[in-house]
Amino acid sequence: MDTVDKATRSRYMSAVKSRGNRSTEMKMVRLLRKNKLKGWRRHKRITGTPDFCWPVIKVALFVDGCFWHGCPRCYNLPKSNVIFWKNKVIGNRRHDKRVNLILRAQGWKVLRVWGCRINEKRTLLRLRTALHSQN
Ligand SMILES: [Zn+2]
Repeated sequence: MDTVDKATRSRYMSAVKSRGNRSTEMKMVRLLRKNKLKGWRRHKRITGTPDFCWPVIKVALFVDGCFWHGCPRCYNLPKSNVIFWKNKVIGNRRHDKRVNLILRAQGWKVLRVWGCRINEKRTLLRLRTALHSQN
């Protein structure tokens, strides 16, 4: 059991609540719909439970929350319990890497997009490339 103070605990809990990160995922849904990208499923029970995936062509898409996965652009380490948070992010990233490896070994193409970059041109380009290079 981690020993953390009350402030950390409550910060952690409130972050957990937003873990499904609906608003971020909805942003992605809108992007996919707007660009008529079809065939995706959400939260399919394969390794890592990707936020989105295209089972037929085996493309998995993760939308990584900036806070949980330590986005290099916008992550700010909380001021208290620095070690706790550092380890949290390190652990998550390690998990992400393992998931990538396993999925790739199973023949999936894995894409990860930072929550803050969903609406950048490059994201759509990467998606299109991944989805079309399969056929
Ligand atoms: Zn970010």
